[in-house]
Amino acid sequence: MDRAETPSPPAEGRAHGVVLALAGGVGGARMAQGLARVLAPGDLAIAVNVGDDFSHLGLSICPDLDTVMYTLAGVHNPLTGWGRADETWNFLETLGRIGGETWFRLGDHDLAVHVERTRRLREGESLSTATAALCAGFGIAHAVFPVTDDTLRTRIDTDIGVLDFQDYFVRRQCAPVARAFHYSGADRARPSPPLADLLGSGRLRAIVLCPSNPWLSLAPMFAVPALGALLDARRVPVVAVSPIVGGAAVKGPAGKIMRELGLSVDVSGIAQHYGDRVDGWMIDERDARHAANLREQGRTVALADTLMTDAARSEALAREVLALLDRMPGPAV
Ligand code: GDP
Ligand code: CA
Repeated sequence: MDRAETPSPPAEGRAHGVVLALAGGVGGARMAQGLARVLAPGDLAIAVNVGDDFSHLGLSICPDLDTVMYTLAGVHNPLTGWGRADETWNFLETLGRIGGETWFRLGDHDLAVHVERTRRLREGESLSTATAALCAGFGIAHAVFPVTDDTLRTRIDTDIGVLDFQDYFVRRQCAPVARAFHYSGADRARPSPPLADLLGSGRLRAIVLCPSNPWLSLAPMFAVPALGALLDARRVPVVAVSPIVGGAAVKGPAGKIMRELGLSVDVSGIAQHYGDRVDGWMIDERDARHAANLREQGRTVALADTLMTDAARSEALAREVLALLDRMPGPAV
C-alpha cells in the first residue's frame, strides 16, 4: 500500500510557498498523489471539484473528493478510477434484491464514507470540515478540500436535453452529444474557507492544473468567481498537465467531448481551450510535435512520460512538474 505521506526534503534552491493543485477525479488524484509524495504537507494544498456531487439514496456523495481521498490513502481501486480496492458489494446486492436503485455502484466500504459525510453535513458541518475529518480518518496529512462549500452542480446540455452530471456520466455512460456545460450555482459560490485562507495568505507559490477533464472537472472550479478572477489576475505561475496523451484521453470522455465541441483531440486543442490561463505546459513525450507551437505562444514547455500508471510514476511526473515550475519566469511568491 502506498502511503503518500513520506515527503522528501525540498530540493535546494526551490522557491518556498504552497503549490495549489486543482483536481477532479482520477487524473487529479493521480497527480495529487505524486505531488504529495514530493511536497511536505505545508507546501501542497489540493482543491477538488464538487460539480459531480449529488444526493443519492439520501446520501451526500462527492465522487471527486472521494477519489482523491482514497488515492492519497492508498485504498483506491486503480482499475476503475473510482471506489475502493478490495471492495465488497453486500449492500448493493441486497438493495437490488429488494427493488432499490443500483445504477450508481456503492460498495460496502465506500458506503461508510457517504454515511459518515452525510451525518456530519446534517449536523451542520461544512463540506470542508467534513472532508478534513474524513481525510484525517484515512491518515492523510496533506490538505484536501472542496473548491467551495456552496452547492455547485455540473449540467450538460446535450442532443437529448439538459442532463444532471450523474445522469449523463454514469447512467448514460456519456453517450449523449455534449453541446455546452452549465455549472449551476457557481456564480454564487464562494471559495471554501481553506481555499480562501490560502488565497489570502500570500503563501501561494503556483497553481497546478492536474490532468483532469477540462470541462467536467476543472471548468466547474474556474466558475467559482473568486478562483476564476485569481487565475485571470494571477501573480503566480499556472502549470497545466495535459489530460490528452498521444491524441486521446487517458480515461473518460474528454476526447469525445473535444470532438463534439469541434476541437482537435490533441495538446493544441487543450491549449486552445485553456488559452492565456496557462503559463507552463507539461505534455507527454508522445506529443513533442506540439511543443514548438506552445513555445511560440510564449508558454514554457516540458516533456515527460505523463502516464501515471502507479504511484512511482505519479511521483516522477510530480518532480518534473516542480522542475518546470522552477524554470518558470515571473515572481514565485
Ligand atoms: P474523473 O473526475 O474521475 O473523470 O477524473 P478527472 O477529470 O480528474 O480525470 C479525467 C482525465 O484524466 C481524463 O481526461 C484523462 O485523460 C486524464 N488522465 C487520467 N489518468 C491520467 C494519467 O495518468 N496521465 C495523464 N496525463 N492524464 C490522465
Ligand atoms: Ca469527476
